[in-house]
Order: sequence, then structure tokens, then C-alpha cells
Amino acid sequence: MKCIQCNEGQTIDSVTTIAFEKKGVAFLFRHVPVMTCPVCGEEYLSEEIQDRLTDITNRCLQPGLSINVYDFNQGLIIA
Ligand SMILES: [Zn+2]
Repeated sequence: MKCIQCNEGQTIDSVTTIAFEKKGVAFLFRHVPVMTCPVCGEEYLSEEIQDRLTDITNRCLQPGLSINVYDFNQGLIIA
């Protein structure tokens, strides 16, 4: 698709790492499939991937688990 940020580049399939914190729980997602603009570097997440991130995040919000690592290649939480 055409990049809506710079309106110039054509996005290419890529992977990225996403880290964030929610309610005191840290999340690290590795090998997340994204579309990247080669011109401006903007990254786009598909709805499917966003849903998976939300789903995993909500499932992992448990007291005592301070860091969660999820690898999209391995498809499971490894820490
Ligand atoms: Zn762009």
C-alpha cells in the first residue's frame, strides 16, 4: 500500500520489536509483522496483528508477572 504518512513510499513487509508498559506490566513483542515505508520509516500494523497484541496483553495482565516476552515467530510467551 502507499504510505499515508509521506504519500511517497510503497510499504514493504517487515518485522519490528514493540515494547510498552500497561498497568505496571512490561511487554516485549518480537518479530511483529509490520509494513514499513522505505522512504520515511513509518510502520503500519494490520488490524489482525493489533487484535493479537491486545488479546495477548489482556491475557497477561496478572499480578506477579512483571515482564512478558512474546515472539511472533515462536508463537508463545517465553518469559
Ligand atoms: Zn512514508
